[in-house]
Amino acid sequence: MDVSSSLVPRKPTRQISVGDVEVGGDAPVSIQSMTITKTADVEGTLQQIYALAAAGADIVRCTCNETEAAEGLAQIVPRSPVPIIADIHHQYKMALAAMEAGVHGLRLNPGNIRKPDHIRAVAAEARDRGIPIRIGVNAGSLDPSLYEKYGSATPEAMVESAQQEMAYFDEVGFDAIKISVKASSVPLMVEAYRQLSEVTDHPLHLGVTEAGPPPAGLVKATAGIATLLMEGIGDTIRYSLTADPVEEARAGRQLLEALGLRERKNVDLIACPSCGRAEVDVIEVANQAMEAFAEKELPLQIAVMGCVVNGPGEARDADLGIAAGNKRGHLFVKGQNVAVVPEDEMVGQLVEWAEFISEHGVDAALERVDLVKAAREAEKDRAKLLSDQGDDANRSGEKIVEIRKTARS
Ligand code: SF4
Repeated sequence: MDVSSSLVPRKPTRQISVGDVEVGGDAPVSIQSMTITKTADVEGTLQQIYALAAAGADIVRCTCNETEAAEGLAQIVPRSPVPIIADIHHQYKMALAAMEAGVHGLRLNPGNIRKPDHIRAVAAEARDRGIPIRIGVNAGSLDPSLYEKYGSATPEAMVESAQQEMAYFDEVGFDAIKISVKASSVPLMVEAYRQLSEVTDHPLHLGVTEAGPPPAGLVKATAGIATLLMEGIGDTIRYSLTADPVEEARAGRQLLEALGLRERKNVDLIACPSCGRAEVDVIEVANQAMEAFAEKELPLQIAVMGCVVNGPGEARDADLGIAAGNKRGHLFVKGQNVAVVPEDEMVGQLVEWAEFISEHGVDAALERVDLVKAAREAEKDRAKLLSDQGDDANRSGEKIVEIRKTARS
């Protein structure tokens, strides 16, 4: 079975362009993040934008809350490696200033800019300049009349807020729109997006707002975003974490790679959960490996396994892996042992082999060693571990006998 068919085909949406990044239609799902610097701090903000782009962000948003921020954007936009979106709060004039600064997109919160004349003025200017706008509905800041009508921030209230804003845009003939209906409650945002996708074909920007610090924030954001993506809903995503925004961009990229929605650019690190047979602290080695590969663009699956008894077999599909032996690490390529290295060189060797495979391929990696010798050496450790620990490394069998005795007595 082709497992990729378990993903519902993406719902067709219109396509818009945010600078040179296409969003919607058949464009790949894009990753967004937001700077947390003062936008007026041009160098600091650019540094963060570069870090976000390196971590996988396709589009970066910066706040434009004051004139100094708009002035900063005028200097940031021409030097940015990715399109820049200005986040507008209450002042529609900041939207006009940001467009003058050359931004590639705007984000407006309909709950914050409420005067129809102001909304129409921004939309008309965006239309004339060919700049797209995201209608960013937020459950926490809906127009008070919608709270009154629905009693609370319901999915229906959020969708209506987006529709009201779209109607103003319609009046001036502007339709380069993407829409978000974010909430910090996962069930609420999921339902709001489902309903929204039924009534519009504008591209949708997914996110769980104020998801909080990792790991809980990552779980919440992933639960909401992944659920919708699996249903074919969503054209661009943002993780809203209380953390270094680089983590947001990285998480976005990792999610899309894991779902097969973006081509893998970075290492997919798999690791065993460890057990009584483990010969090393698997968590420690996996963390070291994760750190060593964090900034490397190597599209490989790499395994960190706790023992040589089962590790190479369990991870035979990985391009490369390491399993802990008797104070040594066994390197394997596609399940075949290729080298035995001292324990403190395990991660370093993993990186070296990964770089070699990425450049020359798996076959070349297998050709550069004496596979028979490597297998013989690896087998010695395997046999020793089996004789030390037996087949039942966790002593489960022994424990079961004890439990049965206790139960009978
Ligand atoms: S048997 Fe080996 S590879 Fe499997 S979980 Fe235990 S330590 Fe890890």
